[in-house]
Amino acid sequence: MSLEILTIKGSEVISKLAIVGGTHGNEFTGIYLLKKWEKRLALVQRSSFDTEMLFANPNAFNENKRYVDHDLNRCFEQSQLEDTSLASAEQVRAKEINQLLGPKGAARVDFIIDLHTTTSNMGPTLLLTQKGDFYNQLAAYITMKMPDVIVSCDEDHKDNSEHHFLSSIAPNSVMVEVGPVPQSVIRQDVYDASEEMTFHILDFVELYNLNDVPKLPETVTAYRFIESITLPLTEDGRRNGMIHKDIQDKDFTEIKPGQALFKTFDGKTICYQGEKSVYGSFINEAAYYDNNLAMSLLEKITLTTYSE
Ligand SMILES: [Zn+2]
Repeated sequence: MSLEILTIKGSEVISKLAIVGGTHGNEFTGIYLLKKWEKRLALVQRSSFDTEMLFANPNAFNENKRYVDHDLNRCFEQSQLEDTSLASAEQVRAKEINQLLGPKGAARVDFIIDLHTTTSNMGPTLLLTQKGDFYNQLAAYITMKMPDVIVSCDEDHKDNSEHHFLSSIAPNSVMVEVGPVPQSVIRQDVYDASEEMTFHILDFVELYNLNDVPKLPETVTAYRFIESITLPLTEDGRRNGMIHKDIQDKDFTEIKPGQALFKTFDGKTICYQGEKSVYGSFINEAAYYDNNLAMSLLEKITLTTYSE
């Protein structure tokens, strides 16, 4: 095992970090955490970098909606940001945010923490959309400090330019995703876990900058996104069933071949047909009903903290 100096993208150290909340206007936890931290800046400041905060979609919040026209967290592919014909409320806001924190590809900000919540029973989840030793050690640090955190890797094979997430403006980023909490509701357990995980991420960035990351567990269990699956639909695309009660709230538990996934409205049980076990996340996420997405399927993986 070596303790080589970690490297990140863009620069050697993280000197500017942005915490973003309210990317989805009805995910109140991050919005109210930002309001708290703006009054008590010391909570999110560390010695080696500047912290700023951004309320991403106040218009959606004012309308008590996830978004006004489009999901803001799907508007940040490089090609979308460059396309001036895209002019909905969120497409315009995405370009503004890209000016404020970016521009993507040459961003002013080195690191973004984007705060989200889910209606699914995912617990505190650290969502990684990039890979590398820095992220593996971040995951090891967070799970060492907060053992109930789940690490979920979401299309981390993609180049940042291909990602549509707000956090992909910066060369380095993570998303904090905590649930279950209904839309437009605050729960103290979710609020507290979101704040605690954010503080540990800030602490890790500080330790990284100071080249003082402690010895960490050598491996971390994580889950990697495979695909999203839809609710049962009729041939003409109408919803025809629901999540089966046996997997409701069972995010990150094993789905074995034959496991009941759905119950149709005419009483049929639809089972998982795959040949090997998978794991679900975002099971019955309210925000995904507009696309009829039922859940994400993931494989269990092991991240290696020290690659050499
Ligand atoms: Zn969200």
